[in-house]
Amino acid sequence: QAAGKMAGTQTTCPYCGVGCGVRAKVGNDGRIDIAGDETHASNLGRLCVKGSALGETVALDGRLLYPKIRDGEGDRKVLQPTSWDTALDKVAHGFRRIIDQHGPDSVALYVSGQLLTEDYYVANKLMKGYIGSANIDTNSRLCMSSAVAGHKRAFGADLVPVCYEDLELADLVVLVGSNTAWCHPILFQRIAKIRESRPQMKLVVIDPRRTATCELADLHLPLKAGSDVWLFNGLLSFLARAGVADDGFVAAHTNGMAAALEVAEEDCADPGAVAKICKLDPQDLLTFYQWFADSQKVVTAFSQGVNQSSSGTDKVNSIINCHLLTGRIGKPGMGPFSITGQPNAMGGREVGGLANMLAAHMELDNPQHRETVQTYWNSPRMADRPGLKAVDLFQAIEAGRVKAVWIMATNPVVSLPDADQVQRALKKCELVVISDIMEKTDTNAFAHVLLPALGWGEKDGTVTNSERRISRQRAFLPVPGAARADWQIICQVAQRMGYAGFDFTAAHQVFDEHAGLSAYRNHANGQHRMFNLDGLRGMDEARFDAMQPVQWPLATAPSGDKQGTARLFADGRFAHVDGRARFIPTPPRAPQNAIDSEYPLSLNTGRVRDQWHTMTRTGKSPRLADHVPESFIDMHPQDALLYGVREGMLARVSSRWGAMVARVQHGGGIARGTMFVPIHWNAQTASDARVGALVNPVVDPVSGEPEFKHTPVRVEEF
Ligand code: SF4
Repeated sequence: QAAGKMAGTQTTCPYCGVGCGVRAKVGNDGRIDIAGDETHASNLGRLCVKGSALGETVALDGRLLYPKIRDGEGDRKVLQPTSWDTALDKVAHGFRRIIDQHGPDSVALYVSGQLLTEDYYVANKLMKGYIGSANIDTNSRLCMSSAVAGHKRAFGADLVPVCYEDLELADLVVLVGSNTAWCHPILFQRIAKIRESRPQMKLVVIDPRRTATCELADLHLPLKAGSDVWLFNGLLSFLARAGVADDGFVAAHTNGMAAALEVAEEDCADPGAVAKICKLDPQDLLTFYQWFADSQKVVTAFSQGVNQSSSGTDKVNSIINCHLLTGRIGKPGMGPFSITGQPNAMGGREVGGLANMLAAHMELDNPQHRETVQTYWNSPRMADRPGLKAVDLFQAIEAGRVKAVWIMATNPVVSLPDADQVQRALKKCELVVISDIMEKTDTNAFAHVLLPALGWGEKDGTVTNSERRISRQRAFLPVPGAARADWQIICQVAQRMGYAGFDFTAAHQVFDEHAGLSAYRNHANGQHRMFNLDGLRGMDEARFDAMQPVQWPLATAPSGDKQGTARLFADGRFAHVDGRARFIPTPPRAPQNAIDSEYPLSLNTGRVRDQWHTMTRTGKSPRLADHVPESFIDMHPQDALLYGVREGMLARVSSRWGAMVARVQHGGGIARGTMFVPIHWNAQTASDARVGALVNPVVDPVSGEPEFKHTPVRVEEF
């Protein structure tokens, strides 16, 4: 059914990576009715409480409506409204001057999984193809870059093999490091619903905390934080000895099994020893291993609990290894499944929005790929080495190596680890440009130039969800004030910097160039990139507006079949040059910073059900605020007793990097020696509430993803 003929505008929820279809309708009284889009295959009409409350979050209070620049003398410099021409000139001339004096690597973009694919595409093109530096990274680095790195090592490219339907077809669903009930609620509802008709289907939850997701689980394994690789190496070893390896699949389609198995056997051949390291009941661990061995259709879905770790990439590969050994990939109801956090983290990956990627899933360190992209863009230069990843980027700003940064749609003073360091960096930075929809955020306080961007309901473009489904976000609200689309702002700066190649006048033109690049020379010189949007090329505005959700790859002409592809690797062919998947040896490593007598507790961070990121939108809805009205420190009652704090009292948590204050609670699902603090609250919502200030800036050496799930801390009465 075409958009426009249905009640309301068909669009996509801007929160989590489930990417639910939404219908939005503005009533005569200005009230916005929101409903799930029953034609969208990812949610089939369902919405969670955050999606349902979208209409309550689009009011203009607090919005940044006009460009501002910091003006005045000395300490009296304040942000003053200005014209677009003045603001854009200041950005373009500032970037040009700094690049001319210090070179392309002295500037950077820090972008976001909240951007639409079209915004991401032009930002990446400007930085990598015109400025000539790969210093563009994204807040997606913080949530799923370990999955990207794991996919690339195992499959040869960042490819998600499965789709949501596989969760319903599986006989065993394993959720690892994922409070799916709160963080990806519609996926959880799909699992819950299917279990009503298939009660024999089993659900295992592997998570240090007893979360809401565990309420549906047949088995909860509350493993010690950071011990996942031991657990999955143990599983690999168990599967091999149980005789359930798919020898034919391994021989025909993979490399490296013997080396990975040897490493797994080294420490993890004895399930009893693994149970001890992971602090698990040995019988429960064996039950899980046996269920995995016995179930042909297994989906292992994982999220931030796996990715946000100094061994996140190895955790991902230890999971994938188990699926490769059993050949459980590329067929209905089975496969490893990275559930992304943000609405468009996947779209950002497709256009190369990470500092170590190029565009259209091509590689920066591949000369042939660089030449392909540069020729397609007809660009003057091309970055030829990876840029600075998020944590390194802000350290380089503080060190003075990066002198100008343009931050888009994200709030790093709250969300990055060692967040006080980010404040110091921005304070020192010569030019801080921020595009945002909100006027006051913890990060905007450091801006020299503030650029008003369009928000959800006002902007037009595409997003890609966790199952590779590209959906449209459509505008149904008027443009507020002087706000502009992010892609448009970037193009206007690029043109002022003297760059051709940014003369887009509508979002569909950007999408068309992106789709064209995905297909450009795709089969030349032995290349076969699985990311391919050939079937979506050549859309005019009307066809782009009517575009229905579809899963890539689409390799056929617009006039042909446009069904997309539900799952990858069905033919056993992977994206490595030889077409074979790789087992990756994963020697287990503990989190980098150990607890000690000064900082004796392990801090874990994450989301609550009804808030999103730093609450600039969800914080506007009273009913969403009702669920969890303020930040909290969830800790075990015996730890509270030991450290002299009580439930309901304000306490100060500190680490070697910073401190924050919140109220103690005993949620009941937390192990001794650990605590949990949510990520959402910040200086705009409560003083001293930024948990990011505590988090150690330790990153995975392969992916650069920070270790948000373990920081040594102490707690004391405030
Ligand atoms: Fe939005 Fe995610 Fe909820 Fe779907 S599950 S309505 S995408 S927040």
